[in-house]
Amino acid sequence: MSIVGKVYLVGAGPGDPGLLTMRGHECLAAADLVLYDGLVNPELLRLTSAECERTSRIVESDGRRLHQDEINDRLIEAAAAGKTVVRLKGGDPFVFGRGAEEARALAEAGIPYEIVPGITAATAAGVYAGISYTHREQASAVAFVTGHEDPSKPQSLLDYDALARFPGTLVFYMALHRLSAIADTLIKSGKPPETLTAVVCRASTPQQETITAPLAEIARAVERAGLRPPSLIVVGSCVELREHIAWFEKRPLFGVRIGITRPDRQADAAIRRCRELGAQPV
Ligand code: SAH
Repeated sequence: MSIVGKVYLVGAGPGDPGLLTMRGHECLAAADLVLYDGLVNPELLRLTSAECERTSRIVESDGRRLHQDEINDRLIEAAAAGKTVVRLKGGDPFVFGRGAEEARALAEAGIPYEIVPGITAATAAGVYAGISYTHREQASAVAFVTGHEDPSKPQSLLDYDALARFPGTLVFYMALHRLSAIADTLIKSGKPPETLTAVVCRASTPQQETITAPLAEIARAVERAGLRPPSLIVVGSCVELREHIAWFEKRPLFGVRIGITRPDRQADAAIRRCRELGAQPV
């Protein structure tokens, strides 16, 4: 009988390495092979001695991107050869993350697996930008929506009339490139143009940037500020809370890059201190 390994589908959290779960940390420490995606903060790889490979869906100048089928095959092959494999995915593996497709391929191949949740980008962006999606005076529901589909296409699976009527906060993932079309379509479908909107870029990292404006003006404001993906769009009156409770972007060294000159083994304390002050350790 062959010895089969195991695959752990692990949510890496949104960017701040401190937001990995303890279970995720244990899995990384035990791994022989880590396949991580483009949204994962590479600082997390300090927690493992495994062979690590990026499967980025963001094409890098030197790297090649793996197709989903190839990723599935790699996970199956490595586990079948007895390895402990971590598939590390940005945010939560099941929130717009294709984690279920990977789990299904493993189930069909008879490979044992475990799935470890992660803090999804929306949760982190709300907290790190000072926006509570369900503040009881502002909203009694929240919807996570993909912005990947073109809202002007008649075959869109999303019902923008229903979204415009939704009695709560809307959070769009993968939507920055369609911001203007999404805002226009929501307004045409009845959402008041003055509804406060925020775009949170690179949430929970020292490069976090947040722009707020009424829905009708958000696309221009974001273009002026030059925000880039990964970003989330938050539509709802709860955005106004930010003015009172934002905290993360106010840290004393927020956004500053600090080179750590200590050897890797002795760098932990300095890295932690940098992060507490809002700086990016390099
Ligand atoms: N599984 C991931 C989402 C993958 S879809 C999760 O649970 O977070 C990729 C989208 O997530 C991006 O287009 C962007 O909209 C959002 N995203 C991921 N990380 C982000 C971050 N740090 N800040 C803002 N948006 C982020």
